[in-house]
Amino acid sequence: MFAGHYAAALAAKAAEPGAPLWTYVIGAQLLDIGWSSLVMAGVEQVSFDRGLPGSALVLEHMPWTHSLPSALLWSVAAALVVRFAMKLSWRACVFVGLVVFSHWAADFLVHRPDLELWFGGTKVGLGLWNHPVPEEAVEIGLLAVAGAFWAGQRVRAGRHVWPAALFLTLLVALQITAMLTPAPGSAQQLGATGLAIYLVFGAVAWLIDRGKADVGERLPAGAARA
Ligand SMILES: [Zn+2]
Repeated sequence: MFAGHYAAALAAKAAEPGAPLWTYVIGAQLLDIGWSSLVMAGVEQVSFDRGLPGSALVLEHMPWTHSLPSALLWSVAAALVVRFAMKLSWRACVFVGLVVFSHWAADFLVHRPDLELWFGGTKVGLGLWNHPVPEEAVEIGLLAVAGAFWAGQRVRAGRHVWPAALFLTLLVALQITAMLTPAPGSAQQLGATGLAIYLVFGAVAWLIDRGKADVGERLPAGAARA
């Protein structure tokens, strides 16, 4: 799962607009932001098997970012950080936490068994990566459905739809580019590329959602906006 993770961010923004889009967008990839950093530091390990169907990643060791207890801890920590650093409502914080955890749930669907249920314990994963065509269809399908809900929420809030269409287009383009690009030569290269992509998409989300958006979204339909 790659760009498909962002479907959770868009769905959350539609359901709870009180958190800025960038918090959901960063949250959806928070585990992989940690993973990219730890892979570059050599703390978590990945290798590549280009003979595998779908993703060439062999995720040998990633207890700190992709075990079930770690994912739960990152989710709770993210919810508390946005609560106390950004003063978001508890409801918005719960949604941020859910988006962070959605990463693990989506990875469980697509990964081959490489996600530890506890530290050093059984590794799980349903392995949709072994079926590349349905896997890509699921990722792009999730983005399309969640993107439609998000665009609908913007319309109801009296906001422009084009930024949503642009962001969705970028996400689908990212997914297709990743699909057509061969696996990188090293774990460091993969980590650096991933980190750059996650931060750029977080910045784009901030750009298209900044301003008085959240105030405007709470106004009744037809009310004047500043
Ligand atoms: Zn992941």
